[in-house]
Amino acid sequence: TEACLSAIESADALGAFAHKTPEIARERAAAADARIKAGDAPDLCGIPLGIKDLFCTKGVPSQAASAILEGFKPEYESTVSQKLQDAGTVMLGKLNMDEFAMGSSNETSTYGNAVNPWRRGNDDAALTPGGSSGGSASAVAADLCLGATGTDTGGSIRQPAAFVGITGIKPTYGRCSRWGIVAFASSLDQAGPMTKDVRDAAIMLEAMCGHDPKDSTSADLPVPNFEAMLTGDVKGKTIGIPREYRMDGMPDEIEALWAEGRKMLEDAGAVMKDISLPHTKYALPAYYVIAPAEASSNLARYDGVRYGHRAKLAQGDGITEMYEKTRAEGFGAEVQRRVMVGTYVLSAGFYDAYYNRARKVRTLIKKDFEDVFAQGVDAILTPATPSAAFELGKEMTDPVEMYLNDVFTVTVNLAGLPGIAIPAGLDKSGLPLGLQLIGRPWEEGDLLNTACALE
Ligand code: GLN
Repeated sequence: TEACLSAIESADALGAFAHKTPEIARERAAAADARIKAGDAPDLCGIPLGIKDLFCTKGVPSQAASAILEGFKPEYESTVSQKLQDAGTVMLGKLNMDEFAMGSSNETSTYGNAVNPWRRGNDDAALTPGGSSGGSASAVAADLCLGATGTDTGGSIRQPAAFVGITGIKPTYGRCSRWGIVAFASSLDQAGPMTKDVRDAAIMLEAMCGHDPKDSTSADLPVPNFEAMLTGDVKGKTIGIPREYRMDGMPDEIEALWAEGRKMLEDAGAVMKDISLPHTKYALPAYYVIAPAEASSNLARYDGVRYGHRAKLAQGDGITEMYEKTRAEGFGAEVQRRVMVGTYVLSAGFYDAYYNRARKVRTLIKKDFEDVFAQGVDAILTPATPSAAFELGKEMTDPVEMYLNDVFTVTVNLAGLPGIAIPAGLDKSGLPLGLQLIGRPWEEGDLLNTACALE
């Protein structure tokens, strides 16, 4: 814990931590020491972690990187961060992220962007750590903590993991409780671990998941010992290679990385199978209808009354002006864009044309996956991102360009499946690239085990 705290102090330039909690860290580390001495140490006793700012942590600022939650200190702890605390871990602080987890570069944060610890060369421009869990990615890659929580609504664990060369898993929807995690798009949001390798991810995931009566979508299923399932044996497993993920204009090095991944799995005894997921091309548009629709509804609660920031009012202003001014000041540009898109697609005249259509497309995408799993496919291998980390500032001016970053990741959220990003090599300029494996529902153990063959 002390080593991490001093590393964090000397890494302010990365902008990974939004709120540091050294007193809490030292208190929990001392408690962990006492438990170890008493011979009553849980598995993760004393392991220092960073917690994404989207998780409510009792008495500690939890702002979802938004100005509208300025000063908000929850009276309660999210189920996932509570479980990690019960497992003996030590919280070092709250990690930077995109505002309300909306973004792919960590640039929509009210705290300013986090930075990728990797650079092309010393004099080259700073790169994004990806988003929305950019602070988590940057902190783990720079050894500021041993692991971090992330959340993934459309790729926010997997894309940043790929951009900084670490491992990140989004479990099956319902595996981790969403209780106490600031809601973005409730039917897509899942928490998951971001770690240095697959084994750490397995250990941390086990501590994070489990049934929670406080979240009605949390699955009442036993939590397997994921670490015990890491035998490294993938002999006879069928790995699907979906032809629709070979996108036009995909860089050669992403294609080469994917081929390398196939070879590694084949060498380990797995069988490759060409498969088709025909509705893949509709996933991104469907996601960017459904996610904003749910967000516009979830964000209605930030009204200047219940949480955080309230705008200063002028003489004669009423409650409507209070709402308007508070929301205009408190929400950043991307969040306002999502609220506008979301309310538009849900409005009476357009509901059927956009929201209902997107929901039907979502069902087709889910069925694509069910069909290939029914044909005996155990896991699906794809690239994690269409490129390596890009320069900060480069894509912020064009929201659609930014959304294209999520092209390989959003399908998994729409279908509710587990997906993992694993570091898989470097591009020409020496930046990390990741591969993604998609698994059957509830078979995270199998998925993690297959991922071991790519390490
Ligand atoms: N980049 C996607 C978005 O902006 C995904 C975000 C996420 O997974 N939280 O919506």
